Amino acid sequence: MSSLPSLEQLHAIGAKQQPSYDDPAALAAAVERLRTLPPLVFAGECDELKAKIAAASRGEAFLLQGGDCAETFVGATADNTRNKLRVLLQMAVVLTYAASVPVVKVGRLAGQYAKPRSSDTETRETPEGPVTLPAYRGDAVNGFEFTPESRRPDPQRLLDVYHSSASTLNLVRAFTTGGYADLRQVHTWNSEFVRNSPVGQHYEAMAAEIDRALTFMQAIGADPDEFHRVDFYSSHEALLLEYEHAMTRIDSRTEQPYNVSGHMVWIGERTRQLDGAHVEYFSHISNPIGCKLGPSATADDALALAARLNPTNEPGRLTFITRFGAGKIRDGLPALVEKVTAEGVDVAWVCDAMHGNTFEASNGYKTRRFEDVLDEVQGFFDVHRALGTVPAGILVENTGDDVTEIIGGGEELDEQGLAHRYESVVDPRLNRVQSLELAFQVAGMLQK
Ligand code: PEP
Ligand code: MN
Repeated sequence: MSSLPSLEQLHAIGAKQQPSYDDPAALAAAVERLRTLPPLVFAGECDELKAKIAAASRGEAFLLQGGDCAETFVGATADNTRNKLRVLLQMAVVLTYAASVPVVKVGRLAGQYAKPRSSDTETRETPEGPVTLPAYRGDAVNGFEFTPESRRPDPQRLLDVYHSSASTLNLVRAFTTGGYADLRQVHTWNSEFVRNSPVGQHYEAMAAEIDRALTFMQAIGADPDEFHRVDFYSSHEALLLEYEHAMTRIDSRTEQPYNVSGHMVWIGERTRQLDGAHVEYFSHISNPIGCKLGPSATADDALALAARLNPTNEPGRLTFITRFGAGKIRDGLPALVEKVTAEGVDVAWVCDAMHGNTFEASNGYKTRRFEDVLDEVQGFFDVHRALGTVPAGILVENTGDDVTEIIGGGEELDEQGLAHRYESVVDPRLNRVQSLELAFQVAGMLQK
């Protein structure tokens, strides 16, 4: 791995989806400050995650990646983080039981603050006529509020991302090692879901099986450390070059650059150009990385990206996160998987069942259908089963709260219901019940 290019070199290559800052001195000061701050994660932890993703790519583990589309500073509260963590742990127990392999738990959290947008501007009707302002690019860049002051990109926010991520990660580490993630506790929450929610009742049989397995373990006196604590990793889309570059450090063990702002970082669908600055940057860091692949990606694109991003074919290094949409995955995915596999390229295939299924409801809300999410995961399993390849995991946008952002599911949320509690600032998320429902449904797919 050659040395990390400078920020200036990366910008010279041309980076998409970057904010237009109007105060270069303030931006430079923020970057300089970030460079002095301690790492949020250790390179050794990133390597550990890489080994686990390698196991997932062989079918010896299963990756569950989930959390907000876009975290917000005001949303980074203890309650929110706890609820998000709780639902992911609940999902993980169900999936672990069904897959009979460890579930690798990766949050879209503690750093998921920057968003690519389809347009640089947003226009809204006001009593004084239409007003156009810069698009909201995530709390890392500007404010969601539709005023010129709020929408102006502010470099100080990059430091806020760091501090907000640090406090979230601190809480996550405390929860996951301090007893909150105790397996019996998590199973009790699942049992409550099955008992108390009409949707949960469908999953009584599987919950009872898990219960019997745990009772058996208890009866024989098995009480491994893994029952009381879990490994939990952070991830985000590494979009803003200033932030990601400033948070890239040389690891003293390996003398390689690592992005120490998150364990895993990914390249979004809009920034995966082979000759773009993001691919160049990612080719120099040693973290486990993801790269989104949508329906426009060809098998040759996938091969070229793998050659750039993982030239040594290191297992666990590269995850292709496919996001075709329920209607396209069965036709589009096989060509990619076939060719990549035939060339002997080592990747983990993960299904993002969200981003190919977004549409605007008649009342203007950005939403998805739960049934499409489920169908895309089913299509993903079908394709891999037919090819004899490994479905290594799923990526979801979800929350532990009872929001109303995705229609359908056992609670049969309809378009009118979206208005009830729609809180996402960018993409719609599965709520708590939908997340658990998805986990039980995917568990059924894993068992077949
Ligand atoms: C996302 O994961 O929130 C996202 C923007 O995805 P994609 O790059 O696949 O559109
Ligand atoms: Mn999203």
